[in-house]
Amino acid sequence: MKGTKKLLCLTLSLVLMGMTACSTQNTPAPSAEPSGDPQTTSAALQDSDVDVLVIGAGGAGLSAAVSASENGASVIVVEKMSIMGGNTLRSGGAFNSYDPEGQASTKMDDSLKATVEKLLAVEPINDAHKQLIEDVQKQYDEYLASGSDSLFDSPEWHALQTLDAGDYIGNVDLILTLTRNTLDTKKWLTTNGTVWDPTIRTVIGALWNRSAQTTNGSGADFIQALSTQAEKNGAQIYLDTKAESLLQEDGKVTGATITNADGQTVTVNAKSVVMATGGFAANVDMRVEYNTEWADLGESIATNNHPGATGDGIVMGKAVGADLVDMQWIQLMPLFPVSGGGISGYVNNAIYVNKEGQRYVNEDNRRDVLAQGALNQTDKLFFVINDQTEIDSVQIPQDKLDYMVEAGMLFKGETVEELAENMGVPAENLKKTIEDYGKAVDAQKDEFGRSTWGARLDNPPYYAASYTPAVHHTMGGLKINTEAQVLNAAGEAIPGFYAAGEVTGGIHGTNRVGGNAVPDALVFGKIAGANAAAQK
Ligand SMILES: Cc1cc2nc3c(=O)[nH]c(=O)nc-3n(C[C@H](O)[C@H](O)[C@H](O)COP(=O)(O)OP(=O)(O)OC[C@H]3O[C@@H](n4cnc5c(N)ncnc54)[C@H](O)[C@@H]3O)c2cc1C
Repeated sequence: MKGTKKLLCLTLSLVLMGMTACSTQNTPAPSAEPSGDPQTTSAALQDSDVDVLVIGAGGAGLSAAVSASENGASVIVVEKMSIMGGNTLRSGGAFNSYDPEGQASTKMDDSLKATVEKLLAVEPINDAHKQLIEDVQKQYDEYLASGSDSLFDSPEWHALQTLDAGDYIGNVDLILTLTRNTLDTKKWLTTNGTVWDPTIRTVIGALWNRSAQTTNGSGADFIQALSTQAEKNGAQIYLDTKAESLLQEDGKVTGATITNADGQTVTVNAKSVVMATGGFAANVDMRVEYNTEWADLGESIATNNHPGATGDGIVMGKAVGADLVDMQWIQLMPLFPVSGGGISGYVNNAIYVNKEGQRYVNEDNRRDVLAQGALNQTDKLFFVINDQTEIDSVQIPQDKLDYMVEAGMLFKGETVEELAENMGVPAENLKKTIEDYGKAVDAQKDEFGRSTWGARLDNPPYYAASYTPAVHHTMGGLKINTEAQVLNAAGEAIPGFYAAGEVTGGIHGTNRVGGNAVPDALVFGKIAGANAAAQK
């Protein structure tokens, strides 16, 4: 089974890379999930006793499996799909982290300073927020006094931006646990086989230049590295194996009832369980049940999630008394491919224009603003415009570009007029839009309030791909504390029960920052695994 799984991961990774030409957070979903038959290479899971049972082999689950096993626990991971990875596998793998070394070459400017100063001036909503502002203010004062012209950043500034982007709904302690552990987790991932692209960028909705990615620009790299390490550490991973419900004795979670790959019901008794089943963006009924923000999240809107993102862990957790938090906040990804191709998800060298060839939004804004902005445009459609500068930055091979252009997935023009004609938008409008944008780049200022500035769009050839919003991320889920213990309605930890990743809620508030979810899964997976291993 081991060989089969690795091959599947690698194959899908290559498919993802090929489709995205690297480095996007809007990785198009593979048209079909590769399927594997674990029965050809291994026996189905039987009744078992184990220290730690991990439910879900995505980023959070595999991070927990490595962490628990390196802390001496025996580990079983069950994954209901035929491949590991979940949404983490689909993701562009953008990983936000304060990283002074990686960010050193990024310069600070007046609009970025204004962004910091704006959040420092916000009236605190509680003591934790007040403390956070004071901490960032102190760091910022020291930074200004140092005379540095490099980008200002810190785990606390990352936390303040995350809190603000989520409209001050997020739990500050959880947010700080995330942002103070990203750099260490990044290093831990490196020791577990992850290879990083040294360039730090701003993925869509990331709000600050702190998005790291692996060299392949794919979340598949995390799955490959962590599953290899988990197996090296002795963890057993079972595919096509679905957790149905949790076992509970005297309030303590003691394992799960599971349908194995042969369709038999088996029991795994465990000293602790880590729930890592991901979100519920692919469950239309749950979307409709919990949504309060968007006009319609029913069948009329697509999702870019893998089909297994059906909220199973939320249902199982609720049944053993877990409290739920922030369930109504569901994120739309503005960048769901319509034409099918694209250059990158980075904002730095891109503008968004509508079918009229006009900009309508600040491209470095929050995702909910970008999504609503796109939904307001003709046919709910918009184009991302890039030129050769972004191609050089993300290094897309010419044959991939040519393929996308020939297949109609990407529009190309040697001139703006030619691009406009191929896109079917008024050339005069697009020309004026790009000229105005050039002036805005020079002035580092525009009418939309943009603060992330790359190059002017004057380096042909020009490229455009079309997009519409799709259901992307569910911010709510099981309520946890900073030790990744699942809490009941009284705020008490449910013994033996841990959770990590998109199945949990409380961090992202109303609107998740782009590039914060993969670190959420990997940071809290690591914490959950270590704590679960210590459970007696
Ligand atoms: C297209 C796309 C691109 C993205 N890009 C980025 C990005 O670049 N950066 C970023 O920060 N975030 C990104 N995100 C969000 C991010 O990928 C996810 O939030 C994160 O990876 C979730 O990790 P997870 O481990 O919690 O869940 P998942 O990775 O989804 O893993 C959950 C696993 O649990 C399994 N499972 C579910 N129910 C059961 C059950 N009953 N029994 C057994 N197994 C079960 C699932 O099949 C799945 O394999 C992206 C999301 C998408 C959809």
